[in-house]
Amino acid sequence: MSTFLGMPYAPRGVGHLRGEQPFPVAARAALADTQLRRNLGKATRTIRAKRDAVVAELPDWEELRAAGQAIKRHTLAHLDHYLKQLEGRVQEHGGTVHWARDANEANRIVTGLVRDTGADEVVKVKSIVTDEIGLNEALASAGITAHETDLAELIVQLGHDRPSHILVPAIHRNRAEIREIFLREMADVDPGLTDSPAALTEAARLHLRRRFLSARVGISGANFAIAETGTLCVVESEGNGRMCLTLPDTLITVMGIEKVIPSWRDLEVFLQLLPRSSTGERMNPYTSLWTGVTPGDGPQRFHLVLLDNGRTAVLADPVGRQALHCIRCSACLNVCPVYERTGGHAYGSVYPGPIGAVLSPQLTGVEDNASLPYASSLCGACFDACPVRIDIPSMLVHLRARHVEEAARDRRLPTAEAVAMAAASWVMASPRRYAAAQRTGRAARALGRGGRIRRLPPPLSAWTAARDAPAPPAQTFREWWQHEHGDASGSAG
Ligand code: SF4
Repeated sequence: MSTFLGMPYAPRGVGHLRGEQPFPVAARAALADTQLRRNLGKATRTIRAKRDAVVAELPDWEELRAAGQAIKRHTLAHLDHYLKQLEGRVQEHGGTVHWARDANEANRIVTGLVRDTGADEVVKVKSIVTDEIGLNEALASAGITAHETDLAELIVQLGHDRPSHILVPAIHRNRAEIREIFLREMADVDPGLTDSPAALTEAARLHLRRRFLSARVGISGANFAIAETGTLCVVESEGNGRMCLTLPDTLITVMGIEKVIPSWRDLEVFLQLLPRSSTGERMNPYTSLWTGVTPGDGPQRFHLVLLDNGRTAVLADPVGRQALHCIRCSACLNVCPVYERTGGHAYGSVYPGPIGAVLSPQLTGVEDNASLPYASSLCGACFDACPVRIDIPSMLVHLRARHVEEAARDRRLPTAEAVAMAAASWVMASPRRYAAAQRTGRAARALGRGGRIRRLPPPLSAWTAARDAPAPPAQTFREWWQHEHGDASGSAG
């Protein structure tokens, strides 16, 4: 199949989208780590407070959210048109466009491009899509060293760790831990390094400067790509991105196909929504924009790699495709009670938190990340915080249904859950059967202590292993109604 724009080709996402352990197992280990929970709680509380303050400043915040949602919806409905327009404009301005169906193809393209320059080192702007495809590992196996230049990504890389947050990849580390990593991994660091933020950033600055000045190849992701002019956009806070995007001779940008937007007017909406939702700032400290190649100014070779890696499969699901609206602000992570307690590693995918719970299973196929749609209390805080109004709770329910249906198709015998649900349906279809079941269920009162049942015999023990249940009351609602009103009409309710 030669194209993925016409939809029939829908490759599975490969790369770092799948964990080794299901979420409940990984989450249990994370919950036992009190230092991790302390670090996460402090960081997410701080970001939440900053976001709430700057969002409250805008009287038209809800209109902006609706505009962001409408732009994304329109763009995805005409994705083939805007991607072809983007390709044409980038080429007109001296850039080269490559199409990658999956992670392996993207890694092959990027590795080949770096090899062609003769470089054995690259500097990188923070890019979650290159984490998704495992680009650093692919480059390393080709003898090319990738240097992360974003401070948090540098901490993760030097700590031989994995990112645990979309925006703050080292959110699970505190200052003392970062100091230890720097002392251990930076050959030229001052042995008297303290854990003050100024000292740590100065150490990182000195460590990175030589790399910026000697790099011949820069690699980035993209926050947005403007189809009407072929302009790419990266927003960041540290200035490292600006260095990577302007100093090297060759710039390679890897971008998920959903990042295209039609016009500059659309960018105006997202440049208001994104910084307030992500870092709690009114605007990003550094907004870099470039269009192809400008002779004598900045990189003289520009390559844009447009990545599918499961995205057309997501697009084919009318409910699930909303996940492609995401602008990676991470607001949903910061408000999620599950993420705040487990951190990002438990999700096992480079996309953690609520957006990871709906995006990763769709990119890989639901059965390969089946536990993630259940990693939510469905409280709805993610929907309220999302700057492009992605209805994550509804998508979670939709993906749970898909998982149940797909699992049922592959199985010859019904599960215990399916049998229990069929039995419940039969009982609830008849008022008489329901009343009889209530009377029988009252026997479970004997198992209660202080009004709660904390342990049930198998197979119901699976429920009480993780939570308790209220003991049945001495009197059912029907019995109370009959006692109060002297008839049994409550039994029809
Ligand atoms: S789903 Fe919404 S809130 Fe979460 S990262 Fe994406 S844009 Fe931000």
